[in-house]
Amino acid sequence: MKKNNQQEKGYVYIIGAGPGDPDLLTLKAERALHASDVILYDDLVTSALVDRFEGLKIYTGKRKDSHHFEQDAINEEIVRHALRGKTVARLKGGDPFVFGRGGEEIDVLRQHRIDYEIIPGITAAHGASSYSEIPLTMRKVSSSVAFCTGHPINKIQAPDADTLVYYMVASSVHAVLEAVLKKGRSESTKVAIVQNATRYNQQVFTGTIGEFLRRDRVAYSPALLIIGENINHFIEENWFSRKKKVLTVGGEPTHFSNRDYVRVNFPCRREEAAERSVLEECFNTIGDWPVVFFPNRFAVKYFFSYLMEFGRDVRHLSGARICTLGRPAATELQKYGILSDFELEPESPSAIAGMLKDGGISAQKVLLPGSNLVDSYLVNALEEEGNTVTPLSVYLHGKHEQEESIDLDFIDEIWFSSPSCVKNFSALYRSIPERITVTTADGETAAEYARLFGS
Ligand code: SAH
Repeated sequence: MKKNNQQEKGYVYIIGAGPGDPDLLTLKAERALHASDVILYDDLVTSALVDRFEGLKIYTGKRKDSHHFEQDAINEEIVRHALRGKTVARLKGGDPFVFGRGGEEIDVLRQHRIDYEIIPGITAAHGASSYSEIPLTMRKVSSSVAFCTGHPINKIQAPDADTLVYYMVASSVHAVLEAVLKKGRSESTKVAIVQNATRYNQQVFTGTIGEFLRRDRVAYSPALLIIGENINHFIEENWFSRKKKVLTVGGEPTHFSNRDYVRVNFPCRREEAAERSVLEECFNTIGDWPVVFFPNRFAVKYFFSYLMEFGRDVRHLSGARICTLGRPAATELQKYGILSDFELEPESPSAIAGMLKDGGISAQKVLLPGSNLVDSYLVNALEEEGNTVTPLSVYLHGKHEQEESIDLDFIDEIWFSSPSCVKNFSALYRSIPERITVTTADGETAAEYARLFGS
C-alpha cells in the first residue's frame, strides 16, 4: 500500500467518520482512508463504511458481545503501526473532538513525536438535527446551544443555553431530565430523543420532560437527547422518514434513486468463505490439529456448520486443545458441548502473546478459523510464541456484522441481485415479513427466491 515517503516514521490521521450514514464522510477523510495502511475503527463506525477501503482494519470498539480494547491498548496499536512506518487512520464516530477522546490520542502521538493531522467529522448532534428536522438554533426561539454528556451520571450538567443536546444518554435519560428540571426548566418543556440518527433505523421519540420522566426505558444506544423550544416545530413525517428503506442484497443497482430511497447494502460477494476444496481438505483431517483457536463467536458458529457438513462431529476434536478469545466465543462453543480449554482476554497483541506463553501455547501447530480477512495481530501474537498458524476462512468479513445489525422491521423493500445472494441471505433470515416488497434482478433470481421463501 501507499507509503509516506517524507519520513521513516509513519503518519496518523485522526478522522471523524460522521454519525452513521456512510455518505456523511468528508471528501478529505475519504482521501486519507484510501491512503492508509491500517484503519483502527470504533464501535460507532459501520462496516459499510470501512469495507470501502483496503487498509488492514482493526476493530477497537465494544459491542454487546465482546470486550473492548482499553484506551491504552488502542494508543499502543496506533503507535506501534506508526513507528513501523505505516500510515494509520484512527477512525472515530462523529467528530473526534466531540466526546471522542481525540485529545488523549494526540497527547500520545506528541509524546512519541509521530506526525498527525485531524480531520473533523459530522457530530451526532448535527446528524440528528438535520435527519429529524429539529433545528438546533432558531431565530426568536433558541439562540444558544450546548453539547453535554449524560455520563457519568453523577456529573451531569445543565448549562444555561436555550437548546441542550445530550450525548451518551441511553441509560441516563431520567437523570438528565431531573438535572434540567433542577435548573428551573418546566415539566412541559419539549424533549426529543433521536436513536440511530442518520441510519436506516433512525427513530425519533418526542414528549415533554414530565412525560419522559414517567416512562421506563426510553432509548437504546446510540441515542441523543435534545431539549428546547425549537422541538415544537418537529414534524412526525420528516424528509428522512418519508424515504423508503431498501435493502439491496449484492450488486450495485442504479434504479433506486437517492431522492426516494435510503439504501442499505447487504454484501454478498461469494457464497463460500474459502474454496470448497480447501475447506474439505481441512475438515477431512480435522482431528490432526493440536490446537484450534477461535478468535470470536462467528468463527465458532461457521466452523461447526462446516464440521457437520463434511460429516465430522465434536468427537473428531477430542485430541485438540481448544482456545478462545473473549467470553462470547467461549459461550458459543458451549452450545456445541465443548468447554474452552484456554480462554484469552482480548487485549493488546503483546498482552496476548504473554497469555499464550503462560497457557503453554508455544511452538504448536495452530488452526485459526475466522473470516477471509485474517486478524494479523492475532497471527503475530501466536507466531511470537513460536507457533505455526494456519488461518482457515469460514465466513466472509462484514457478514457477521450485517447479521447482527439489519433489522427488517425498518426495511420497506428488498432487492436481490442473484440466486446465490438469495441463498446467502436465506441462511441468516428464515422468512421475510409480508409487508416488505421484494424485487429481483432477473427471472432466475426470482425463481430462487420463490424456492427458498415460498412465494
Ligand atoms: N464523537 C462522537 C460522539 C461519541 S460519544 C460524535 O461527535 O458524534 C457516543 C455518543 O454519541 C453516543 O452515546 C450517542 O449519544 C452519540 N451518537 C453517536 N452516533 C449517534 C447516532 N447515529 N445517533 C444518535 N446518537 C449518536
